[in-house]
Amino acid sequence: MQHIHCTVSNCYYWDKGNVCLAKEILVTSDEVGARYPDSLDATNMMEVAEEIGSISASSCMATCCKTFVDKSAAQRETKKAPVPKISRQQYEQSKSTGM
Ligand code: SF4
Repeated sequence: MQHIHCTVSNCYYWDKGNVCLAKEILVTSDEVGARYPDSLDATNMMEVAEEIGSISASSCMATCCKTFVDKSAAQRETKKAPVPKISRQQYEQSKSTGM
């Protein structure tokens, strides 16, 4: 399993120690992120690959995490979090086993 460090604390997938508990994430360019709806995410990578393919970015400032879901919106269930979230325990286990 990958270990993703993230400081965006109002994201539904964020957890203490600046870790991301999303099972998978989609990072793309700001331009693609703005062009496609929130429903386009890591869970539909076949569609992403067909529609977008791969894209270059000029710097880190031109990239975004498409998997971000505002925590308060997810808690109010006004916005769906499409990617499965792992538990902190699963995260710790995968860290210790390297899987
Ligand atoms: S989904 Fe993206 S924004 Fe949210 S915690 Fe993970 S890396 Fe950060």
